[in-house]
Amino acid sequence: MNYYTDSVNKLIEKLSKLPGIGGKSAQRLAFYIINSPVENVMALSEAMLDVKKKIKYCSVCSNFSDTDVCNLCSSSNRDKKIIMVVESPQDMAAYERTNEFKGLYHILHGLISPMNNVGPNDLKIKQLLDRIQNGQTQEVILATNSTVEGEATAMYISKLIKPLGVKTTRIAYGIPIGADLQYADEVTLSKALEGRREF
Ligand SMILES: [Zn+2]
Repeated sequence: MNYYTDSVNKLIEKLSKLPGIGGKSAQRLAFYIINSPVENVMALSEAMLDVKKKIKYCSVCSNFSDTDVCNLCSSSNRDKKIIMVVESPQDMAAYERTNEFKGLYHILHGLISPMNNVGPNDLKIKQLLDRIQNGQTQEVILATNSTVEGEATAMYISKLIKPLGVKTTRIAYGIPIGADLQYADEVTLSKALEGRREF
């Protein structure tokens, strides 16, 4: 990194901390930024600051939102009796792209993973239980990935929901074991949803 001047090295170092960005990609991005018009760089940095200032958790589904209740939760076109529980906003987006699911979501923001020191209290599980207890929920679809962590998290949540007398289902996996939901195609996800089974 000593080939470049300090400010360039600093930018490369910061960029290389982004997920999936190695040293080479960080250099490529840094020089792209250096060669961009100043307005574009300002717009990028403002968008980054803006999202950090505005974004909060939706008080219903825990998705990221600019408003107290997100657009999806406040929509009158959604079936409020069904909640699909997913790991991340990206997984929610993957299901939205199928156009098959008309219920609401609940975003956990992670999976239980003792190896990575992530316990149930680090996820939005309590918010889910409160929501089920206070709402009109008739079915909870556990749509976490089919990884060890995804299965363990689904199992854990299903045990907590059982006593509440709400039907709990798990999506069927035509999705390869261990595969990441957000990269599955729409047909595979639609099938997984269609073939869900009761816990
Ligand atoms: Zn919401």
